[in-house]
Amino acid sequence: MTLFDSAAFEGHEAVHSIYDEASGLKAIIAVHSTARGPSAGGCRMWNYGTSEAALDDALRLSRAMSYKSAVADLELGGGKAVIIGDARRDKTPELFAALGRAIQGLGGRYWAAEDVGVTPEDLEHARRETPYVAGLVGHPGASGDPSPVTAEGVFRAIQLTARRVLGKELDQISVAVQGVGSVGGGLADKLAAAGAKLTICDINTGLADAVGRRTGAHVVKAEAIFDVDAEVFAPCALGGALNEETVPRLHAKVIAGGANNQLAYPEVGEYLFSKGVLYAPDYVINSGGIINVAAEIRAIGSGGAYDPLWVEHKLGRMVETLAEVLDRSQADRRPPHQVADEVARGRIAAARSGH
Ligand code: NAD
Repeated sequence: MTLFDSAAFEGHEAVHSIYDEASGLKAIIAVHSTARGPSAGGCRMWNYGTSEAALDDALRLSRAMSYKSAVADLELGGGKAVIIGDARRDKTPELFAALGRAIQGLGGRYWAAEDVGVTPEDLEHARRETPYVAGLVGHPGASGDPSPVTAEGVFRAIQLTARRVLGKELDQISVAVQGVGSVGGGLADKLAAAGAKLTICDINTGLADAVGRRTGAHVVKAEAIFDVDAEVFAPCALGGALNEETVPRLHAKVIAGGANNQLAYPEVGEYLFSKGVLYAPDYVINSGGIINVAAEIRAIGSGGAYDPLWVEHKLGRMVETLAEVLDRSQADRRPPHQVADEVARGRIAAARSGH
């Protein structure tokens, strides 16, 4: 199969393969769309088994970023960088400097931020080579780590969906959180503070235990999270958590989490809808991070400072958009992810044709 035949290619403007012999950098930067503004999206470092798996991840994630920014009504398109390597072993300042030079070569068509396996400190090395890096600290426009804003958006989405589906407030619900890293850990803190009954897991068992002690959550083995008797399931690890093997095991009436690309296939979303399970589309509710990054890009563009009120306004709009998507899903008897995709594609197409 060639790149152009791949199911995930859909409409990409450009896909760049980067190799830097001196640092050993192997990366892919996928630019899905720049129709609504420069493409933006996190940079992920992962030990992919094959370069095909890395390409597939980059394509799927960059398209999701286009949809996410369009639905969040940001003046950004979608892109994603993936570095092939072990984030615990292979990171060097030279590797991220080489990535920075590659980003600079794209002339502002792609803005990077942090994602799984990459920290703001790593991106400082890229930032020395290019201005097109956001999510940093130490300048007036800097937005810092986007994860707390992502966690806040997911938290509000759980509040809304719990009210709609279960007719309950957060202190009356049980939630299972898969993955308690930057987003899932922050979400667990907020849910615990709001009085929700929590069960959590992480393949990093030390981290799961630490978050369990901090929040009072019940900790289970990573594989057992799908069998937990919880009303809400919040996937906050990697993509593809919802598939034909895991979904039949879930007890939840609501699925709302921070991970990107939660549906292994779109048909899984149709199955959930047919079973009366509300799936809050991932890219609608995890847009807090890119909203935060957009605030930084906006500040850099205007020479001003990061504006938390603008971020708060956009987060509030995100919750309203989620409610609109769920209303339309109910009225049209269609799964919410299809409604959200339609909104996103419509906005991107309108920008492409200059409307
Ligand atoms: P992170 O690396 O800090 O946390 C991910 C956690 O998931 C890690 O602790 C890891 O050990 C755990 N994990 C991985 N596979 C697992 C499994 N099978 N079962 C249980 N735990 C598992 O990453 P993060 O920044 O918290 O991102 C989490 C997800 O949210 C990713 O899908 C990311 O793309 C998405 N996301 C993040 C942001 C953000 O602002 N950081 C924004 C939007 C979307």
